[in-house]
Amino acid sequence: MLEKTLRRALERGGQRYTEQRGAVYEFLMSTDSHPTADEVFLAVRGRIPGISLATVYKSLETLVGCGLAMKLTYGDSSARYDARTDLHHHVRCLSCGKVCDVPGSLPEREVQRLREGADGFEVTGYRMELLGYCTSCRS
Ligand code: ZN
Ligand code: MN
Repeated sequence: MLEKTLRRALERGGQRYTEQRGAVYEFLMSTDSHPTADEVFLAVRGRIPGISLATVYKSLETLVGCGLAMKLTYGDSSARYDARTDLHHHVRCLSCGKVCDVPGSLPEREVQRLREGADGFEVTGYRMELLGYCTSCRS
């Protein structure tokens, strides 16, 4: 089921299905922890012996390129990946880097106001990120 969906989406993006890409996508779909490439590597290497960090990284980029995942970047720290591609927002811990989904969205009226103030840009979307300190970093 998951494999079929993945195969089709990869082919639409001009890419082939591989066992490595399958394992990376399956893991990403199974978690809401917004893992880094290193974390994905640690999770899948037990299942796909011999897989390298470089292959995991390339698989993640392929998934992003085919619209199957989102890449969340933060200046100098490692990018995080999210298999959830619908419009949703995040809260990020400034101390440990933990990222969680938050429910809710801005009212359309507010989005429109931001759009109008965007200096002539053609706005195609928006992301909202709440910043702070997670429960373990606070204690
Ligand atoms: Zn934290
Ligand atoms: Mn998310």
